Amino acid sequence: MEILRGIAVEPGVAIGEAVILDAEDYRIPYRTVPPAHVSDELCSLEEAFKTALRELAEQTKWLDTHLGRDAANVFEWHVGVLKDTGLRQNIEKLIKEKRAAAAYATSTVMRNYQRRFMHMSDPLLVERIRDVQDIERRLLRNILGESREDLDHLTKPVILVAHDLTPTQTAQLTETKVMGVALDTGAATSHTAILLRSWGRPGVIGLNDVSTRVSGGDTVIVDGTNQLIIIDPNEATLEEYRGREAAFHRLTIELDTFKELEPRTRDGARVYLVSNIEFPREAGVGLSKGADGVGLYRTEFLFLRREGEPDEDEQYEAYRDAILGAGEGRAVTIRTFDLGADKYTQEKSYEQERNPMLGLRSVRYSLENLDMFKMQLRAILRASVHGKVRLMFPLISSLMEFRQAKMTLHDAMEDLEEAGIEFDRHIPVGMMLETPAAAIQIKEFCREVAFVSIGTNDLIQYLLAVDRGNERVSRFYTGAHPAVLRALREVVKACTKADVDCSLCGEMAGQPLFTLFLLGIGLRSLSMAPANIPEIKKLIRLIKLSHADRVARRALSFDTDRQVTNYLRDETRKLLPEDPI
Ligand code: PEP
Ligand code: MG
Repeated sequence: MEILRGIAVEPGVAIGEAVILDAEDYRIPYRTVPPAHVSDELCSLEEAFKTALRELAEQTKWLDTHLGRDAANVFEWHVGVLKDTGLRQNIEKLIKEKRAAAAYATSTVMRNYQRRFMHMSDPLLVERIRDVQDIERRLLRNILGESREDLDHLTKPVILVAHDLTPTQTAQLTETKVMGVALDTGAATSHTAILLRSWGRPGVIGLNDVSTRVSGGDTVIVDGTNQLIIIDPNEATLEEYRGREAAFHRLTIELDTFKELEPRTRDGARVYLVSNIEFPREAGVGLSKGADGVGLYRTEFLFLRREGEPDEDEQYEAYRDAILGAGEGRAVTIRTFDLGADKYTQEKSYEQERNPMLGLRSVRYSLENLDMFKMQLRAILRASVHGKVRLMFPLISSLMEFRQAKMTLHDAMEDLEEAGIEFDRHIPVGMMLETPAAAIQIKEFCREVAFVSIGTNDLIQYLLAVDRGNERVSRFYTGAHPAVLRALREVVKACTKADVDCSLCGEMAGQPLFTLFLLGIGLRSLSMAPANIPEIKKLIRLIKLSHADRVARRALSFDTDRQVTNYLRDETRKLLPEDPI
């Protein structure tokens, strides 16, 4: 039994057999074969080794002629490994003694082989891990050929273990039998984490090397509540976790009973809880969890499930579906494309940016691709006739940028007017507040925007200079930092004074730890993953505003994030003694 600690994306417990998805999407399930098929598996292994050596000989020859001896030498080590009879015998042993399928036996032995290099300090030896992975992939490609299975065809519930998942791969999990996820990479507000959260099943990320410690078929427990992964649990642990899984299920059912109740504090203040969605159908999921509407529709996810850009009609249909799905009379806030950074453009660009989080992302990208931007704005305007729609621009860092984006909107309106197409001429136009510059200039912005939505995921990253997607610095990334709390208080204060509607749509909105503070500084609208709505609603109904005010003032008096976290946790636990916070 082995226990690994990472970063939780969603609480809950999932228990199951591991399926490993490596960078090339190979899934190596634990599979045994009937005794009569053992010799076939051995033949398949022998063929795979032969083909791999032949491929390497050709590759080496090509490199030698075209790039010289040094380049060709790179693969010499690979040839040496493949010719190592000990390695081959270990794989054969697993096939003969355990009747393991050749792919599974290869993957298991190669992963053990990789572990030898994992704790070495010599960078050259660490580099060998990549070489071993490369050899493993080559062998698996040869063994599995065209017959490799993909996640869509799983026949039983599994735990997915991978080095990393792209947002596109994550978006596809919904239709699979994957019950929980464990990843080497990732941080709490990376876009993969956000998608995992909206998927709603337990996950732990930022585990560094879980994908090399687990082999396909191992039993794995994902404990999203305590941020743990347990590999090969003993019987007592397994028993305990089966109990926890059932308890979590009961809690989910209890929270569902809050669906029909209003999010009102004990002293009667109405709070609006709205959903963050990535796909139109999630608007309906939000409604079923009791959401008052959609506070953030991340439209850039339209790009993730297809090759190339979505056209105007396709966009119009998606926006319309989200508006209709949100429920009658409920507002939907559509954010224009937030492309760039970790979303879409890097993979497609000829040359990757050195610093994508500070690069051509979000509204900057839209303003550089005006035809695409205008097309999106036309599609949103066309959809605006189907309900209450608000439009917002992400990552605004200067007034000029906001004005330019609004000018493009007016151009789109003119296009529609000329074509005689109906739209809501008075659509409210707001901004996402995600940069320190916008926070500092909030008073000026309040004169020009219809509403402000605070995106703490980015605001924290830019205020604290911590990459939100990098697990190596994730311990520095926290909403409890006094600088973050003060920035939030100032923004909310300025908006309230200017009578500009202000809400918060970063992950903080869905974390019970911050609810008292956020209400205490005056926020009355919080936008979060639909799955978080019931618990936040339960908490709000236990809060008195006078208490929240006091908590906010006290939290703002601390010097360090640790003091803030401890204090907020203590205060929240008094209200929710049984829930994990
Ligand atoms: C944010 O930055 O807080 C936000 C909600 O936007 P995203 O997570 O999509 O960057
Ligand atoms: Mg953002």
